[in-house]
Amino acid sequence: MIPVTKSYEPHIEDYFEFVQNIFESGWYTNRGNHVKLLEKSILNKLSIDDSQIVCMNNGTTPLQIALKLLGKGGDIITTPFSYVATTSSIVWENCTPIFVDIHPEYLTIDERKIESAITSNTTCILATHVFGNPCNVEEIEQIAKKHNLSVIYDAAHCFGVKYKGKSIFEYGNVSTCSFHATKLFHSGEGGAAFCNNKELFHKIFYSHNFGHFGNEDFYGLGINGKMSEFHAALGLTVLKDIDQIISSRKESVEIYQRKLNLAKISLLKIRNHSEWNYGYFPVIFESESTLKKTQKELNKRNIFPRRYFYPSLSNLPYIETDRDLNIAEDISRRILCLPLYYQMKRSDIYTICEIINSNL
Ligand SMILES: *Cc1c(COP(=O)(O)O)cnc(C)c1O
Repeated sequence: MIPVTKSYEPHIEDYFEFVQNIFESGWYTNRGNHVKLLEKSILNKLSIDDSQIVCMNNGTTPLQIALKLLGKGGDIITTPFSYVATTSSIVWENCTPIFVDIHPEYLTIDERKIESAITSNTTCILATHVFGNPCNVEEIEQIAKKHNLSVIYDAAHCFGVKYKGKSIFEYGNVSTCSFHATKLFHSGEGGAAFCNNKELFHKIFYSHNFGHFGNEDFYGLGINGKMSEFHAALGLTVLKDIDQIISSRKESVEIYQRKLNLAKISLLKIRNHSEWNYGYFPVIFESESTLKKTQKELNKRNIFPRRYFYPSLSNLPYIETDRDLNIAEDISRRILCLPLYYQMKRSDIYTICEIINSNL
C-alpha cells in the first residue's frame, strides 16, 4: 500500500534515551527539561532570533489561543482553502469567519481581495501558508496596519520554510505550527506558537497553562495546552534528522516534476524568495472527472493520494456564506495530493506518474 504520507520513524534508541531521562527525573509534564530543550533547539535549528516560541499539545490550541487574544469575538478574514482546523478554531472562539478567495496559482488567500471584505467588525486576518507556500506577507502586513488588524498565520505546514532568508514563523503577530505525526516535523501530537511581541507572547504563554502565575496567582484566563515531556522527547528525536527528511522529500518531488506530463497537469507555484520544505505534493487536474478517474486507477493499484483540501471550508455544515469563492471551490475540486514521505521508493514514484500520465 502506498499512502499519501507516512509518519517519519525516528531512531527508537534515541527516543528511549530521552525517555530514560524522563523516568529518572520523575518529571512527566508541566514544562520539564525536554519541552524547554525542544523549544530552544527549534529556534536554533530555524535560526529564529527575534521571536519567542511556546510548544503546545497540538497545532490547533495555539490557533485558538491566538484567536481568543486577538480575534475578540469579531470577524476574521480567512481562507476557504486550508485544513478544517483553521475555520473551526474561528467558530470555536465565537468569532465569524469571513472567507476571501484564493490566488489561482499560489493557492494562498488572495491579498488583492482582502480589503473589500474588511468592515468595522473585522479584528483579524487568519491566513494559511498552504502546503508551506508563503502568503503575500508584505501586502497582508500593509493592509493589516492600515486597518489596525492583527495577523495570525496558520503555518501548520511550514516547518523549515523560509521567506526572504527568515523563518516564515517570524511573520505576523502570531504564527502557529503543527507537529502532528502526519506533518513533516512531528512529535506525535504537538504544535507551537511563535510571536515576536513580548507582551503578546506573555499572554499566549500564560493562556496555554491555565493562566498560572506561580502556584496561587493567575495572570488571566487560560486552558491546558501544555506539551508533555514524552512528546517533546519524540520531537527532539525527529528534529535530529530534519535535514535528511527534507532532502529526501526534495528528491522525490524532483522526480515527480520530471516525470509528470506538465502540459496537462499544473503544480503549486511557490512564491518567489521562498525556501520551500517539500511538505506536500499537490497536483491540479484539468477537470474533476480526470481527477476522479485517475484517483480510481491509482486506488486499484493500492495507491492512495488524498483530496487536500476538499471540499472548500465554506461548505462546512456550520458555515453559511454567500461570498464569491469561485477559485477556491474550483481548485478544491481539481487538486490531489500525491504520496510523499521520507525515503519514498523511486520506482513507486515512476509508477504513480505513469498511471497519472496515461489517464490525462
Ligand atoms: C494539521 C493542521 C492543523 C492542526 O494541527 P493539529 O496539530 O492536528 O491540531 C491546522 N491547520 C492546518 C493547515 C493543518 O494542516
